[in-house]
This record gives sequence, C-alpha cells and structure tokens, in this order.
Amino acid sequence: MVDSDLRVENLKVTFSGRNGELTAVDGISYHLDAGEILAIVGESGCGKTVGALSILRLIPEPPGKIAQGSITFNSRDLLQLPQRELQKIRGNDIAMIFQDPMTSLNPVLTLGDQMMEPILRHSRLTQKEAWQKAVEVLRSVEIPSPAEKMNQYPHQLSGGMRQRVMIGMALTCSPKILIADEPTTALDVLIQAQIMDLLQQSKEQTGMSILLITHDLGMVTEIAQRVIVMYAGKIVESGPAKELFQTPLHPYTLGLKNSVPKLGQKLGTSKRLVEISGNVPSLNLLPSGCAFHPRCPSVMERCKTETPVLKKVGPGREVSCWLEGNPT
Ligand code: SF4
Repeated sequence: MVDSDLRVENLKVTFSGRNGELTAVDGISYHLDAGEILAIVGESGCGKTVGALSILRLIPEPPGKIAQGSITFNSRDLLQLPQRELQKIRGNDIAMIFQDPMTSLNPVLTLGDQMMEPILRHSRLTQKEAWQKAVEVLRSVEIPSPAEKMNQYPHQLSGGMRQRVMIGMALTCSPKILIADEPTTALDVLIQAQIMDLLQQSKEQTGMSILLITHDLGMVTEIAQRVIVMYAGKIVESGPAKELFQTPLHPYTLGLKNSVPKLGQKLGTSKRLVEISGNVPSLNLLPSGCAFHPRCPSVMERCKTETPVLKKVGPGREVSCWLEGNPT
C-alpha cells in the first residue's frame, strides 16, 4: 500500500468577472486516506471540479484565485510550494484524468510520444526503456496490440480506448493519488462500467487513492468508500458511500438519489424518476439562508434567512441542514 494522505482545509476559491467576485468553492474541508476512493458528487457548477483543480493549482489565475485554506499532501502545503516543487508532484505523486480525452490528448502526437513524455520527465529511463514501460502500461489498461497503438494518433481510437489511454498515462509514474474528473461522462453506459472497473482494479493493484469527481451518485456508491455531496460551493453532506445512498440526510442528496434509475425499473409507471425541481443557482445570485431553499421540498421559514452549518450527526456522517438528519 502506498502512503498518501491529502487534507484540504477551509479551501475558498474565487473568480473575478464583470459582475464582481464569485465564490466557486466556499470553505470546504475534507481528507483523502491512503488507498481509499472518495467521491465528490454534485450538479454542474457546484464547485467540485474547481476544488479538484485547486489541489494541483490548475486554476487559471487570474481570473481565479485560491483565496484561503491549505491543501496538505504528505505534510507539505501544496498551496505554498514553489512551482518547481509542484511540477515534481504533478503527474508523478498526484495525477489527473479529465472528462474528455480528446481535449487532453494532443491530436498531432502519437500515443507513444504522449505516453513516454511523463515517464522520461519523472524517471531516469532511456528512450527504449520508456517505450517498453509505456507498452506495459497500455497493456495493463487492456489496450489490445499495445505496441502497435504506440504509433497511432488519438483520432484512430474509440472514445473508450482514448479514456483507457488517459488512465494509462496517469498511471505511468505510479501516482499515490489519482484525481478523476468525470472520467466516464462522455462514454456510453457499457464503456462507463468498464472504465470504473479499470479504475478500481488499478487502485487495488497499486494501492493509490482516487478522488472521483462526478454528478452520478448511483455510480459512485458501487466503488467509493466515502462520498461528499456539494451544492453551491459548499459541502452539504458527507458519509460512508453505502449509508449515504441508503439513508440520505440532506434533501438535496435525497433528490440526487431519487433521480438515479434503479435496475429493472420501468419508466412511465408510477415509479417515475423524480427530478430535483428548479435550477442550480447562479453563483452571483445565491439565495439567502440555505442556498438550496428555493428547490427544497422540506423548506421551512428559517431556511430562507439562516444558513445551516455542516454538523456531525453520526459516525463519519455530516450534514448541513436545519432538519438535522430527518429529511422527508
Ligand atoms: Fe431544505 Fe431547509 Fe435543509 Fe436547506 S436547511 S436543505 S431549505 S430543509
């Protein structure tokens, strides 16, 4: 098991624009233990990706700014490291894969060139050794005829194969932490399941930890140990994955759960999928009190003016809601 420990404390990320300053991530704290899969779940615009990009300081500054907090990796604050030191960690100790491999892979370079680049940068291997290692990695992520694929370009592969290559590239330097930002969103359901299996297998073989960013609560409960639910830049609930899915404590988590199709469920019957009503609020027009109140089926008067704080409500469970663990 590799030793890794990531701790995010009171992280706040802002963006400045024509309409003033927006807070995309508002004081979130969490930790990722060695060897665990932690999922961060929420709709688009909830701050989950901005929070993940902040770990490797990939937020474009300006307009973005990490306004407060610390991100500690193996006792070093990544937010205070000089760029040179951070470069050694990026892709080596902490690697990242993105939603759309087509925008992350370089269309004019062969897969071989792209696979070998991080190996050569972070190791002392020769070109020939790096080539062999890249072929082995492609084989490990189940790319057929990997040596042949090394000479091909991204457009010659299917979407699922490209995502496997991205995972392979991220694994070339045996990272201690893999950040996977919506790694299956652009893929069909069958390939999604294969990619999630691949991530889990890779975790089991290497002992790395995975921070999985997704909007799909149903998918993550199969593979994550813990889940954090974010809404409007804040953590609204967290807990062990299975418990959180079985007994959500926040009305927003309950809404996410009810919008997940169940195996064998026929649509068009009385058991229709229930959408969360309304839209995610704009960050420059956040509602007063609880930011979820205009969409919440359990809203009370105090929710409109008083902002709930994240509170421990059981072993490993936290929720930020005035119902304090009794959603209807
Ligand atoms: Fe709903 Fe009120 Fe809880 Fe917010 S605090 S989620 S509005 S019940």
